[in-house]
Amino acid sequence: MSDDEWSALQRLESHLEAKRARGGSQWQEIEVLALGAWRYSDTKETIELPTAQQISCAILTNALTIVTPTFDPLGVCLNPFAALANHSCDPNAVVVMDGPELSFRSLKPIAKDEEVLISYIDVTNPLARRQEELKERYHFTCACSKCQKDPTGPEDKFLKPPKKLMKKWATLVDDLKKAGSVPKDDPANYVGDDIASERMAVLQGMAFSALQTARGASGPRETIAGIENGMRLCYQCGMFPVYRQPYAQMRHNLFINMLTVGNFPIAWAQGVKTYFLIDPVLFPQTYHPVRVVHTWTLAMLTLYIASEYNGLQFQQSVGSELDLGIIIYGLLAEVYGNVQRSHGHSSSFAKLVQRKFEEVKVDMTRGFPDALRGMEGRVEKHWKLFRHAADWMQY
Ligand SMILES: [Zn+2]
Repeated sequence: MSDDEWSALQRLESHLEAKRARGGSQWQEIEVLALGAWRYSDTKETIELPTAQQISCAILTNALTIVTPTFDPLGVCLNPFAALANHSCDPNAVVVMDGPELSFRSLKPIAKDEEVLISYIDVTNPLARRQEELKERYHFTCACSKCQKDPTGPEDKFLKPPKKLMKKWATLVDDLKKAGSVPKDDPANYVGDDIASERMAVLQGMAFSALQTARGASGPRETIAGIENGMRLCYQCGMFPVYRQPYAQMRHNLFINMLTVGNFPIAWAQGVKTYFLIDPVLFPQTYHPVRVVHTWTLAMLTLYIASEYNGLQFQQSVGSELDLGIIIYGLLAEVYGNVQRSHGHSSSFAKLVQRKFEEVKVDMTRGFPDALRGMEGRVEKHWKLFRHAADWMQY
């Protein structure tokens, strides 16, 4: 490490004192991490333990998760330049990675001299949860434009006002509360001060802890069972829109785990639900990198089902009127139309998308040179039919 890098590292905000004062498991982890790094890295002679602690805190505070272009996590990296960008829950930019290269992509027009803001956390979470996460990890209270408004955004909406919660669910929550078997009042689940809002806070807390438990399960099948329990809760209580967290996160986790265990038809049906009903609400820009990647994954899954997996059997079960070829073409055309903006035209992901799209077009016209004629119109028409597949899964 050069002297410049070393001093840049030391200048990073570490929140050491705040983390120490807060204590708890996070501070314990920092102490262990710092002690381990200090003891085993041959730096005992040159730096003091408190410096190692300060660096550990700076890494926790400033590190970005390294992801593949399709947002699969690979590890963490520390980029002092990227760490300088401030946070907003309504950011005008997003960090995208391409191998070791990191770039900021705009999500909205940014005027000259306007501050570039990224998000440090999952901004699709409700207001109270965002605030708690920012306080705990980054030690500040967010006053961004979205947090200053009353919680009226889609991430804070229930299907009905809390007092309209079905009687049997209200009774269930009250009984669980009396028995002391629900999570204690976590400020991250705050909904409101009246009794009906407190019941919703309990239900929301139960859903988030179901997701957390499922993620920590021993294997994909156990994870699936746990996530399905959580999703049933969100669905059956009749209060969660499909895009409200943690319901939407659960569905994405279910999608990934269904792929892992090879249950492609269910993964597909869940992916279609996310494509039509969730992503347009949570990521309104068609070129939002997360939305583009989700659409790409669905396109690749459809292609796999149509060509490798038992396509005929799948086709029979989905009904003969659905044309997987048109769906693959339509999804890929959408990704192709957005990837330059979402990832940059020279990114390896944009090149991959272009290559795949060309390949599919060649395949579709082999022996049928006119196969792509009027394709845009056919896609548009077919999308109404495709949209129905979003309703296959009850929850
Ligand atoms: Zn905010």
